[in-house]
This record gives sequence, C-alpha cells and structure tokens, in this order.
Amino acid sequence: MIECLNYGVGHADEGVCIGLGIGTYRILLDCGVPSLDALPLDEIEQHPFDLVLCSHAHADHAQSLLALHRRFPHIPIYASEVTTQLLPLNWPDETVPPFCRALPWRSPVEFGDGLTAELFPAGHLPGAAVFVLTYQEANTERPPLSVVYTGDFFLSHTRFTEGLPLADLRGLQPDVLIIEASLGTARHPHRRQQENQLAERIRTAVDQGYNVLLSLPPPGYSPRNSHPAAQSSSFYRTANSDLGGSGDRSRL
Ligand SMILES: [Zn+2]
Repeated sequence: MIECLNYGVGHADEGVCIGLGIGTYRILLDCGVPSLDALPLDEIEQHPFDLVLCSHAHADHAQSLLALHRRFPHIPIYASEVTTQLLPLNWPDETVPPFCRALPWRSPVEFGDGLTAELFPAGHLPGAAVFVLTYQEANTERPPLSVVYTGDFFLSHTRFTEGLPLADLRGLQPDVLIIEASLGTARHPHRRQQENQLAERIRTAVDQGYNVLLSLPPPGYSPRNSHPAAQSSSFYRTANSDLGGSGDRSRL
C-alpha cells in the first residue's frame, strides 16, 4: 500500500512537506513548512517516521528540518552530500549540528528490510535530488512498490549544476510519481541568453562610469527561474565613483 499525506504542497508560503507511507514504512519527504505546527506532532510522537528525506536545501523544502531534528532527534534525516553542506545556510544565526546524513548518487541504499532509495541529480541547484524509492514486501510474489519524488527540478544545465539526467530515469514505471509542478507550464527565456544580457548591461554600465551593485543570495542559493544577478542587480552612478561617498547617485 502507498499512502500520501500533504502537510504542505508549496502554496504561497506553506512550503513543501509530504508524509509518505510505502509498505510498512513511514517517510517524510522534505520539511519546508514554516513551523512544526503543520505536522501532527502527537501522532509522530506515537508513531515516528522511519526516516526523513530532504530533496534540496531551499527553505521551502528544508526550513523546519532543524526544528524537526531537535524535537525528534532519533528520526534519521538524509540528503545528498552537497545538500548536507548547504542546509546550515538556512539557520545563519545558529550553531547547526551535522544532523543530516549524506547519501550517494545513483547507488541504491537499503534503509531496512525491503526499502531502498536511489538518488539522481535534479538540476535546480547543487545537491538537489530526485528520490527513487522501492519497497519489496517479504515472502511475496507481488512486484515491488515504487515511488519517485522529484522536489524542484531543472532539465537544463546551469553554471551551478547539471540538469536532471532524464535519460537515466527513462523506463522507470513508478506506482506513484510526486512531481514539483510550480511554474511547470511557464516558458522562460533561454538561460544563457539572460546571462549574456546581464554581462552586457554590466559592461555598458561600467563603461559609462557607473558602479554596479549585485545583491546575491548565499552560494548555491540561486533563485529557480533566472540568474540571481539578473533579478537583483542595481546600477548606481556616483559623482566621485566612490560608493562610500556622498555623491549624486542615480539609479538606472
Ligand atoms: Zn528549490
């Protein structure tokens, strides 16, 4: 049997957090809800999840993982190696223990009797993973149950990471596919074209004597749709070309 409980599916600011029952196992897929209040804590106390899988380090998939770990430290939390390194960026003011365990790419890992998970890169940002979960019931001729969970994914290569290798997943026939669908029908400008336009804008601004300010997210935290600098660049011209001075600043 496969069971899916939605604690958050990414509407507005609710984040993504999905309870998955597969065979005898209960798994939490991501914990991006703003607080643990979105979860049935008493029930989890009675019947804890067997494990938590984090698809990637963005806040809307991970921001309550640390609180979850503190409330239920015995529940193991897993992600790709890179995601384990990026996760602490969600809590810049805290000392974050290494609470998340790293899983390898493209190598099935057995968590318990009959349950395996295999990770494939999801594009989107470094460390983002697609999980292929398989459960084989013991002492039965029935075929295994399988679930694929994508989290956010991106098919194209970027400067940060390679796109989701669709060919590696082709031929899978999961019983359930849980797929990130926000912006799934939107068409975006070609990424390389956007980057070239930004570089040209910067070059032109510098040639004209402007100073260029680029407010950027922490490394690896690129917004999902366009180059971060393209979303947040501001060009200022100062009378003395010194940003610290009291010059006449005009914004382009
Ligand atoms: Zn994301």
